[in-house]
Amino acid sequence: MSSAKHLPLLNGASKALETCGYCPKLCRSTCPVSNVEAREALIPWAKMSAAWLVARGNLPADREIAQTGWGCSGCHACTSFCEHANPVAETLYGARAEYRSAGLAPEAVTTSARRQEARVREADAVLAELAREPGVRPDATAALLVGCAYLRKARPEARAIVRSVIAVSGSVRLVSGCCGAPLLHAGDRAGFDAARARIADATRGAQCFVVGDPGCALVLRDIPAEPFVSHVAARATRLQPLLGLSQSGPVRFHDPCALGRGLSEYAAPRMLLSRALGRSPDEFEANRESAACSGGGAMLPIAMPQTSARIADERLAAHADAGGGTLVTACASSLRRFRAQGTPAMDIASVVEQSLGLSHGLE
Ligand code: SF4
Ligand code: SF4
Repeated sequence: MSSAKHLPLLNGASKALETCGYCPKLCRSTCPVSNVEAREALIPWAKMSAAWLVARGNLPADREIAQTGWGCSGCHACTSFCEHANPVAETLYGARAEYRSAGLAPEAVTTSARRQEARVREADAVLAELAREPGVRPDATAALLVGCAYLRKARPEARAIVRSVIAVSGSVRLVSGCCGAPLLHAGDRAGFDAARARIADATRGAQCFVVGDPGCALVLRDIPAEPFVSHVAARATRLQPLLGLSQSGPVRFHDPCALGRGLSEYAAPRMLLSRALGRSPDEFEANRESAACSGGGAMLPIAMPQTSARIADERLAAHADAGGGTLVTACASSLRRFRAQGTPAMDIASVVEQSLGLSHGLE
């Protein structure tokens, strides 16, 4: 096999790789990717074992093996199930870096990574417009990173995040740039580290650092970053019931993987929705720690677009089976994924914005 390559042992990952390698595949049914693909090579054990064997030099790496490293949405369902809480997604991100260094990253991933600087410029241009919102001040003690995916693909929701944080905190300074998650997921570890360091520098001295997208908050959690929903829920006394929304039928909350299993934040979005609805939100049968993935994370929509779409379709079918109604989520990737499948999902930031009386979309 002429393209076969051996990879250096994944830095610091040998314990995690071994733990899976010696495991009798206990979490095999948890993975949304292998569940829709029905391919043994995509169960968590197989993806980790392939990386382990390649790292040890027992298996030559090729594009087919490398592709399995990108067969992960970063949902943490396997880790949540695992009695060792083995960090499968994070370890696979490390494997992606090794595969990328060997020139084995999927073409779509490489192409997407090349567009990162253009994406950041596009996001920063939207942020410059939002900087004109009353309450945005460069000397504010609260710093806010909205998230590139909201800025580029969900502008009304990005504005809702900014306005809502200003409403509960008085003023805010906006942080430009990207957290680097797209680079981490593409296997560009150095690019990720540099992007993350720039955000850490930009937030130095802030009394609190609020992050709109939980996918960004997850990779910035040791700065530390506070998810938007947590920040607003701690200051939620001004939220008022929205009659239009509460009387419109079921309003079901989808736990984003990064916010739920990633950051263990289940209470804040439910508290915010309860205030806005005057009752508890409706639930998926699988919710909180057991919630199913939207298929939108960790570059899965780029590396395996059809798989990602099928995962989202299963989540939307579960929403319909539970009674349908309004689907509310709290992350730009899930929002975009659901909307791409034709479902007009709402973001919790829009609900909060309206509940704070800052806009009247549902009244
Ligand atoms: S994540 Fe845990 S349960 Fe799943 S294969 Fe690895 S060790 Fe086994
Ligand atoms: S993190 Fe989610 S998508 Fe990735 S291997 Fe585990 S269960 Fe599968």
